Amino acid sequence: MSSHPIRRRALLAAAAGAALTPWVGVPAFAANKKVYIDPGHGGTDSGAVGNGLQEKALTLNIALQVRDILLATYSGVDVRMSRTTDATVSLQQRTDDANAWGADIFISVHINSGGGTGFESYRYLTTDAATQSLHNAMHSNALAGMRSVAAVTDRGQKTANFHVLRETTMPAILTENLFIDTVADANLLKNAAFLTADARGHAKGIATFLGLPTKTTSYSTIVDNATAGRFTASANWGTSTYSTQRYGADYRYADPVLASDAAWFKVNIPEAGTYKVEVWHPGVAGYNTATPHVVVTSSGNQTITVDQSTGGGAWRSLGTFAMAAGDYNAVGVSRWTSAAGYVIADAVRVTRV
Ligand SMILES: [Zn+2]
Repeated sequence: MSSHPIRRRALLAAAAGAALTPWVGVPAFAANKKVYIDPGHGGTDSGAVGNGLQEKALTLNIALQVRDILLATYSGVDVRMSRTTDATVSLQQRTDDANAWGADIFISVHINSGGGTGFESYRYLTTDAATQSLHNAMHSNALAGMRSVAAVTDRGQKTANFHVLRETTMPAILTENLFIDTVADANLLKNAAFLTADARGHAKGIATFLGLPTKTTSYSTIVDNATAGRFTASANWGTSTYSTQRYGADYRYADPVLASDAAWFKVNIPEAGTYKVEVWHPGVAGYNTATPHVVVTSSGNQTITVDQSTGGGAWRSLGTFAMAAGDYNAVGVSRWTSAAGYVIADAVRVTRV
């Protein structure tokens, strides 16, 4: 194959201003990063074959998973692929398509052959800071992904005069994911969990290089005093339907006392993060003016007092808090106050922010 190192150097120099910008967090208004993923071979070109496997099918399997993981896990990213089916696509079509799209990075996925074992990855013969940085991120993360499932030999970060590395105008890396003609490697390539771990490693390498922010999972839940299995209070807490400002069928009340004897709302926090905590109570003149509410945060309990004699029948914010993942008693209403009047436990709402 012919070599065009001068062309590639010129193209990279033209893009140097953008390529050397540090890839820190993506502000909300910024354009999405463009990731081009290239599953090697396809259609009439099966790539390497061995042990009942075809390279073109494995590269497509891994590449589609890289795309899906990127889009599901991170924000601020667009993905384009050279093929999403068993289609014949020339090398020139792949690099022309990526260049025309204006991809920020190009990742080509292949399976090795020729006798050997393990993982290796490639950049072009000459390099620049951005390509070197991408190569480091892709190699270490892909390898770590695979090693989460099985022992894999590290064959190192290499350079080669491959078409897709030479003719692309953005940082480009090609990964060779084990040897199709080595039985031990082929057995791993037949393991769905291994391919997913490999894809996850590729996605993490891409996200690390581009500084993609993780998507926050939206979450909001309401726990009422009547929610099965999610509310506990001692027998000192009575049940009332007195105020129509109640949430749900009824609410719980107790006399203030200089002991906690808290009523607890149990919340299944999906993952560690920042959550807004709100409470609902009927507001009745004579109810407690300084009811302690306890929020269990990842750095310890925080107490917020609420005047329950007024402002009832609506969600009232206790604030936003860092909370740990898990299903636990997260919000409590304590009886421990010197203010007079019933303390009320009715409902809480916890929302990821
Ligand atoms: Zn290949």
